[in-house]
Amino acid sequence: MNSNLYGLNIWGNSNFIIEDGEVCLNTDFKPSLIDIVKEIRNDGIKGPILLRFPHLIKKQIVDIYSNFERARKDNDYNGTFNAVFPLKVNQYPGFVKHLVEIGKPFNYGLEAGSKAELLLAMAYNNFKAPITVNGFKDKELINIGFIAAEMGHDITLTIEGLSELEAIIETAKERFTPKPNIGLRIRLHSSGSGIWEKSGGINSKFGLTATELIEAINLLKDAGLIEKFTMIHFHIGSQINEINPLKKALTEAGNIYAELRKMGAKNLRAINIGGGLSVEYSQTKETAEKNYTLREYANDVVFLFKTIAESKNVAQPDIFIESGRYVAASHAVLVASVLELFSQEYTEEKLSLKGENPPLITELAYLYENIKSSNALEYLNDAIAHMESILTLFDLGYVDLIDRSNGEILVHLIIKKSVEILGNKLNYSNLLKIQDEVQERYLVNFSLFQSLPDFWGLKQHFPIMPLTKLDERATRSASIWDITCDSDGEISFNSVNNPLFLHDVDVEKEDYFLGFFMVGAYQEVLGMDHNLFVHPTEATIMLKEDGSFEIKDILESQSVLDILEDMDYDVSDIQEILNQRIESSNLVDEKQKKHILGELYLFLNDNGYLKSFG
Ligand SMILES: *Cc1c(COP(=O)(O)O)cnc(C)c1O
Repeated sequence: MNSNLYGLNIWGNSNFIIEDGEVCLNTDFKPSLIDIVKEIRNDGIKGPILLRFPHLIKKQIVDIYSNFERARKDNDYNGTFNAVFPLKVNQYPGFVKHLVEIGKPFNYGLEAGSKAELLLAMAYNNFKAPITVNGFKDKELINIGFIAAEMGHDITLTIEGLSELEAIIETAKERFTPKPNIGLRIRLHSSGSGIWEKSGGINSKFGLTATELIEAINLLKDAGLIEKFTMIHFHIGSQINEINPLKKALTEAGNIYAELRKMGAKNLRAINIGGGLSVEYSQTKETAEKNYTLREYANDVVFLFKTIAESKNVAQPDIFIESGRYVAASHAVLVASVLELFSQEYTEEKLSLKGENPPLITELAYLYENIKSSNALEYLNDAIAHMESILTLFDLGYVDLIDRSNGEILVHLIIKKSVEILGNKLNYSNLLKIQDEVQERYLVNFSLFQSLPDFWGLKQHFPIMPLTKLDERATRSASIWDITCDSDGEISFNSVNNPLFLHDVDVEKEDYFLGFFMVGAYQEVLGMDHNLFVHPTEATIMLKEDGSFEIKDILESQSVLDILEDMDYDVSDIQEILNQRIESSNLVDEKQKKHILGELYLFLNDNGYLKSFG
């Protein structure tokens, strides 16, 4: 089976394989995603489903630790390697609880960027595993950090600016021991690349300049807190696709570390290189973005730090990383069904040809009757041109609505038939040439705003492929429409470097599910409740020792009432008003009133995604 389909060999990281035309987990028993989804839907669940795969979280964590372990060994490196997971990437319990459990043997910690995240970390972090705290801090957040230290957590508060340092010094006087460690975020002149590069560089939002660093050291010495200064930190941006900017940042940070040690920061022993390790989202070779491997990344970090430490004659620093996207992205797959193909409604039965038709309609009917392999491309192009003319004639009043409808139907039938004919091997390259003109719109039961917000906001591409029929050639060039009533709710594709071909299915006769892959990082919490479509139903797929799988923790998407309650509506008020309105309606039959009240009650307590088909 062709594992290059839909670029699976580019973005898939061997997590999935195609067998018998279906996407399957690449594990001992190779369960197909469609079977998993069917099993979940057998419990009466409809609408989109977010599948979580903890074994893929584990794979990434093991990948990071083993690559750095190997790099340390190869380079004879004395500093330790440590990692924390930045909670902002995914704070959902269905993810975090597995992450923490999987991370236990590695002493994998958590990174927090707000009060809420820090309190979450204090509750769930593997005790004694590191906690780092970044982001802007007020006195309260600093106090929470001190409480964490007093509770016995290994916590480092990273200072983003001098005023935060002053607040820490003040707090230290007021509170008990043990105290948290202090980190300083350094402002590098090197920056990342790509759409998230803003976190680095001299104009970045965060970090201390060289001048401020010197001042910070003096403040710490004066306050008797220099022993607590243990870490410097930088983060040059997310999804860093090129290794060179990182190398520059590592060199710069390594030198700052050595200089600060020389200036009397005697307990400074760690460099926290932040996140940014990228993943491949691309489905074609032409658009592939990432130009390095984790092996290379780990080697560069260890090698550069060692070289600088040796040349400046300081201890080799402990390494901390805060990669989030790399750990979380692949663990979640959104599965949603196709509800409709836009042109599905154009069937032969709907044609209502007259005794005498306008010449263009007669011509279209002729094309449809006589289309075959040798003329398919030509007839198709003619049909599209004729449709343009028919629309012009309609505007001028020369053809009527029935003619126009006949034209639409015939053109779509010609498209469908020619695509079918051109879909075979010999003609396929011709089909590719015209795919932009004959694109089919697939209406899919999901909200792009809720489930792929980075596509909406940043045009970040996510791998998309059907879960079934992979042993049949997909011939319809597609664009995807979500169910929000917002015209931004479309994922369009182009023939040049980013085509999507889907199958021509009759969704009234068979289910057709699409998988949206690599959605485990950032998408869930950034997701917006536009049109009040909320976080989809989720389920966790656990692999058992014997290789089989088990579906756990099915969490159904919120009910309409719960959504409204989240928005601070008084839901009993809503129910009361609806009740009263039914009471005072013109219905006279009490039974009818009871019946529709009952119906409304069911709708209010169910989730808002579409049900009838998908
Ligand atoms: C966002 C963030 C991260 C995580 O970045 P990824 O690109 O997801 O690895 C790490 N550290 C800090 C300080 C961050 O702000």
